[in-house]
Amino acid sequence: MHRVYLDNNATTPVLPEVFEAMRPYFGESFGNASSIHHHGQETRAAVEDAREAVADLLGCSASEVVFTSGGTESDNLAIAGWVAAGDHVITSSIEHHAVLHACKHLEKIGIDVTVLPVDSHGLIDLDDVRRALRPDTKLISVMMANNETGVLQPVDEVGKIAAEAQVLFHTDAVQAAAKVPIDVRRIGCDALSISGHKIHAPQGVGALYVKKGTRIQPLFHGGRHERSRRAGTENVPGIVGLGRAAQLAKESIERGEDKKMAAMRARLEQGILAQVDGSGVNGAGATRVPNTTNIHFDHIEGESLVIALDLKGLAVSTGAACSSGAIEPSHVLIAMRLRTEQARASIRFSLGKQTTEADIDFALRLVPGTVARLRELSPKYKSQVKVVS
Ligand code: PLP
Repeated sequence: MHRVYLDNNATTPVLPEVFEAMRPYFGESFGNASSIHHHGQETRAAVEDAREAVADLLGCSASEVVFTSGGTESDNLAIAGWVAAGDHVITSSIEHHAVLHACKHLEKIGIDVTVLPVDSHGLIDLDDVRRALRPDTKLISVMMANNETGVLQPVDEVGKIAAEAQVLFHTDAVQAAAKVPIDVRRIGCDALSISGHKIHAPQGVGALYVKKGTRIQPLFHGGRHERSRRAGTENVPGIVGLGRAAQLAKESIERGEDKKMAAMRARLEQGILAQVDGSGVNGAGATRVPNTTNIHFDHIEGESLVIALDLKGLAVSTGAACSSGAIEPSHVLIAMRLRTEQARASIRFSLGKQTTEADIDFALRLVPGTVARLRELSPKYKSQVKVVS
């Protein structure tokens, strides 16, 4: 069966160049990067090259990059690494659960958390950030790009507010990296999370930028790896893959490939909206990363549409991968004040580097008819769907 994958915000395929860069580290170059002999020196050099490449993508120096097991660990390290009982933390209602659930845990250990609302476009209000600041505020954590809608937050402005208030600022850039340029100095953040498997590197590797001079408490206790910020023998093949993917991402942004992706996304979006009545883009009024569109299709059940499309070869998602199959509607779409039925009727399409114009054609051929058939089966659906041939 012909299969098209438009769920790159859940995970991306490892690029062939990335796989080739990793290959020696599963074989002849197997050393522990902490060993002082030849084998260790070889892998240490590869880890440090990868650190340079990640630093280059983020606009920081290599010593500010801490390798982790992925976005979840990076977020947890940034959040738990700086706060103690009695502190106050500000975050937003549309964060990934890696941040929201980490903050819920903080509440259990005596840290007060303010969760900022968003407007119908999915954007925080900078005045809300200013109003939420308190003398005991230690940290602000606001994501750069949302995983479900792609909406970009005004992180540069949040950075300025945090700097003025002398509060630490962490941003989860897991869904922004490789899609838009990132410059940690311009953002003015103290920490920034990325994840390998969202940028065509493997699953199980990520990084946290930690600004020089900010001391962070490690989550794990053990050896002095990663300058005592993350104990544990480095995942050398994964780190090498992340480094290569970071290099490729930087080059592709410089070549303007993000614009090509935005054009493909626009064609998909406009094609669907033109062919399907009662559909609309969630977060359309905000600036978004170029690969993501989240569309509601009135009178359908999102999960049913995902399954129906999958049976025909198109992989999409109802939102965060971990919530697939869950009954709760997306917390992001509910925070954007979509009605519960509309949130449940929403589907995320996310493009990747491997996505072609032919993939978009395939989706455009499949989606309108599939929505129409599901609506015919829905007892609640009264109006007619206009299908343009
Ligand atoms: N943050 C965001 C915005 C994400 O989209 C994800 C994964 O979907 C994560 C964090 C967690 O990253 P990982 O899967 O690498 O743990």
